[in-house]
Amino acid sequence: MPQSAEKIKDHSTLFNEPEYKQLMENKKQFEGCHPQEAIDQQAAYINTWEYREKNFAREALTVNPAKACQPLGAVFAGAGFERTLSFNHGSQGCTAYFRSHLTRHFKEPCSAVSTSMTEDAAVFGGLQNMIDGLNNAYHVYKPKMIAVSTTCIAEVIGDDLNAFIRNAREKGSIPEDFPVAYAHTPSFVGSHIVGYDAMVKAVLTTFWEGRERKAGTAINIIPGFDGYAVGNNRELKRILNEMGVEYTILSDVSDVFDTPTDGTFRMFDGGTKLDDVAAALDAKATFGLQKYCSDKSLEYAASKGQDVAAFHYPLGVGATDEFLVKLSAITGKAIPESLERERGRLVDAMADSNAWIHGKTFSVYGDPDFVYGMTRFLLEMGAEPIHLLSTNGGKEWAAEMDTLLKSSPYGVKGQVWAGKDLWHMRSLLATEPSEFLIGNSYGKYLERDLGIPLIRLTFPIFDRHHHHRFPVLGYQGGLAVLRTILDKILDVLDVETAKTGISYDLVR
Ligand code: SF4
Repeated sequence: MPQSAEKIKDHSTLFNEPEYKQLMENKKQFEGCHPQEAIDQQAAYINTWEYREKNFAREALTVNPAKACQPLGAVFAGAGFERTLSFNHGSQGCTAYFRSHLTRHFKEPCSAVSTSMTEDAAVFGGLQNMIDGLNNAYHVYKPKMIAVSTTCIAEVIGDDLNAFIRNAREKGSIPEDFPVAYAHTPSFVGSHIVGYDAMVKAVLTTFWEGRERKAGTAINIIPGFDGYAVGNNRELKRILNEMGVEYTILSDVSDVFDTPTDGTFRMFDGGTKLDDVAAALDAKATFGLQKYCSDKSLEYAASKGQDVAAFHYPLGVGATDEFLVKLSAITGKAIPESLERERGRLVDAMADSNAWIHGKTFSVYGDPDFVYGMTRFLLEMGAEPIHLLSTNGGKEWAAEMDTLLKSSPYGVKGQVWAGKDLWHMRSLLATEPSEFLIGNSYGKYLERDLGIPLIRLTFPIFDRHHHHRFPVLGYQGGLAVLRTILDKILDVLDVETAKTGISYDLVR
């Protein structure tokens, strides 16, 4: 065998050794493979307009959706509170999926437990699982709060969280006054962004309900489901401190998913202090940085008498301006010169690089607020958006996107695709290609099949490391996004010009 202790080969080289290649060829004899000619024919056919029409005619099948299910968002939101244990009422495999999905992205352990429902619980109900589960979770992991959400199995049989948790308290699984936030998160509707919103609202309800509000001057911020939360939340805090704004970030995962390696395992680290969540009832206003992640939570904050405002992932110039202007108007704090200078630097960088990005075409997919924010920034840079797709975007989002595209001369080629998946995106790019694609790691298969370079700028990023540590929000984040896009444009240009030797230049 080619592997040896003296020179250990990675699988990507090892499996190219003749022994392994022969092994794989031999396997094909038993796999009933189609002849290569037929495979090539089919591969060419799925790139045609005829296939695109068939693909878009499908109604009851989703292939490669660019979204995850509700409880994943609830687990993420729950993790952002002080010593809070995310707890899924449902099957163990679902929780393993949520944990691994988040761990693969953040390269950090993600703690969550489940009531491990199996066949008997599916038939007779999961009450006993809840009683035992809360008892174990409370005594073994010693959290300060438990955040309960549901997976499909519990929703299909209609388990009632309110009644179950009350029962568990009566049985002594958890103390009477121990905070348990709970949200029903059925996965057959909505997506992770709805589950995120449901859990944030559940936490607020746990601490705010039945109390009287004394209006204060602080601001609450709900960041929304964000794969860049580690870098973005820290950047957000820097901006708010710079402005002298008093604030509470509701669900702050920045330390949870970025614990230091110093010999101490921290199952819980950071997160919004529970006392601060309670005090946040008195805030003057609550802002949702991603409108589609905070609908219900903002509605709830408004019902308590707070001002509310929602944004679409403020990255780039105009969106950051809007966020800061609103913040300033609500708090009465002036936007400091330091932030104005940051704005100027971003505009300067955009002008410096305009020749390379102007007129380049991009397709974007992801959560609705991300696609909106990214498209807006592309338009600001003179780039031309082509296909803008959000599996979990609906009609309202599509209308907002249309208005955005119409607001710029660079938006004329843009087409908005709400509720479509990445197999739709494949047909779109095969028939009406853009020069670049912006999305997450799943886009690498589109990149491979269609030769359209992928720029990874949203969750999940499994096959590259540490992106989440650097902010993409605000003016500073805008610089990072600009650099990331430009690097890809110039890398591609170098590869292309190296083939001919023409314009393979040192200075770009
Ligand atoms: S869709 Fe349902 S079954 Fe699948 S991981 Fe989500 S909760 Fe579990």
